[in-house]
Amino acid sequence: MRLFLAILLCKLSRALLRLLGRGGTALPGTLALRLCPDAVSRLAKGIRCVMVTGTNGKTTTCRMIEKLLREAGYDPMANRSGSNLERGIAADLCANAALTGRPKKRWAVIECDEAAFKRVCGEVQPAVVVVTNIFRDQLDRYGEVTHTLEGIRIGLERAQKAVVCLNADDSLVASLAPDAPDRVRFYGIDAALGEGADVSDAPRCIVCGAEYEYEYHTFAHLGGFRCPGCGYSRTEPDVAVTAVDALTAEGSAVELRVDGKTYPAAVSLPAAYNLYNAAAAVAAATALGVEPARAIKGLARIESGFGRMERFELGEAKITMILVKNPAGCDRALEYMASVGEVSAVFCLNDGTADGTDVSWIWDAAFERLFADPAGAPHNIIVSGRRAEDMRLRLKYAGADENAVTVIREVKALADELASMSGEVLVMPTYTAMLPLRAELAGRVGRKEFWK
Ligand SMILES: [Zn+2]
Repeated sequence: MRLFLAILLCKLSRALLRLLGRGGTALPGTLALRLCPDAVSRLAKGIRCVMVTGTNGKTTTCRMIEKLLREAGYDPMANRSGSNLERGIAADLCANAALTGRPKKRWAVIECDEAAFKRVCGEVQPAVVVVTNIFRDQLDRYGEVTHTLEGIRIGLERAQKAVVCLNADDSLVASLAPDAPDRVRFYGIDAALGEGADVSDAPRCIVCGAEYEYEYHTFAHLGGFRCPGCGYSRTEPDVAVTAVDALTAEGSAVELRVDGKTYPAAVSLPAAYNLYNAAAAVAAATALGVEPARAIKGLARIESGFGRMERFELGEAKITMILVKNPAGCDRALEYMASVGEVSAVFCLNDGTADGTDVSWIWDAAFERLFADPAGAPHNIIVSGRRAEDMRLRLKYAGADENAVTVIREVKALADELASMSGEVLVMPTYTAMLPLRAELAGRVGRKEFWK
């Protein structure tokens, strides 16, 4: 009865909020959990779930897994609204359930916040878990990386049946392997991609504290690590990007080894860091029984979404929006920006709770790489958001010509300015800065909001 009421109330409040033109709020899930605290575990029963957690790349990895499963003939539900805390997951499970509690869909791809993972994982009892990576997020929200790691470890202990897909190149994530003996599937990238370690959140061995040696780096602390102290080192992955043939603004062409066999693969999302998401998605899909060749085919048909490499064409401007939320993610976006060539750059910095109230993290990201080669520097720079001045100061210290940086605070004015530009425009907003700007751009190009 409690479950019935929880589902009913959740559906009603969600419908009402939509009528009011508001989507993705926390209210329906909060109400459902208040009425029926074990709603998540009861609604997830009978559903084969893939859960994705980690600091960066969760949303994109989920979209990829969802796509690969669809291409293989499954019809999974997914928590697409971007709310990846327990209440958001509860709301999406309620939406997927009949009033009796019976699930409408038998498969699910669930994105879960690192901090909520330890509880939700035990309730959902996933068939597959993917851990993307662990980076220092906003310190005021999550504490140290080891704390995050410990939370995920507890979650894995509670999901005794899950196949656990771990990033082999991340020394922190890979250290979770003993917590899921015989059930681990490693994925990774076999060769150097970036310019080496710029921001390392884990320079020292998680086991003994000695400084790691690296055969190669991909991003930040990710790569072919080895500890000279205790011998803890990267495990050869089951799913690996073995060669990168091309990286363009449209996507990449790579070779992918899956369980000993190598396949050519096209990934329809740009930026090298999406190769990690692609490898993770293939590891998860094949763990669920999808044929490797079939899974890989799906990678060529991924569409980006909701602020993650989302594209908007506005007049002559080709706008790509890349959500940033921490130094490591920001570094990857900057690396991508530097690789695009002729580009206009827009940075929108807010300091809301969801952004991290302490904006000092921008000093840990390597904005300098944009100005290392003056010929390749952005020819046009705009800063926006509540902390636009902090952003301008950061860019000045990174080597930007102060007079070439424009401050535009108002969202409509910013969108007007973007519409008047031409060529590639990269917009890097923090979360709460992204929402109104994305809504404005989506409205101008006639794109539907995600909850419609
Ligand atoms: Zn060690």
